[in-house]
Amino acid sequence: MPTYDYRCPGCGAEFSAFVTMSRRNEVPCPECDRAEVEQRVTSFYHSGSAAGACAPGRCASCAGCR
Ligand SMILES: [Zn+2]
Repeated sequence: MPTYDYRCPGCGAEFSAFVTMSRRNEVPCPECDRAEVEQRVTSFYHSGSAAGACAPGRCASCAGCR
């Protein structure tokens, strides 16, 4: 299950959540319970690129491809 990073525009909280892809837009803020939070792209993008683009040992700056 992928990890998604979120940021709440209401209270500014940043958090991560393990959710299935189909439920990633249904994650409420753990601080203020706001339903509409912004999904940050870092983790999402990273898991996508690590799967195919990086070969082991070739990407020293990338923590996801060892
Ligand atoms: Zn919040």
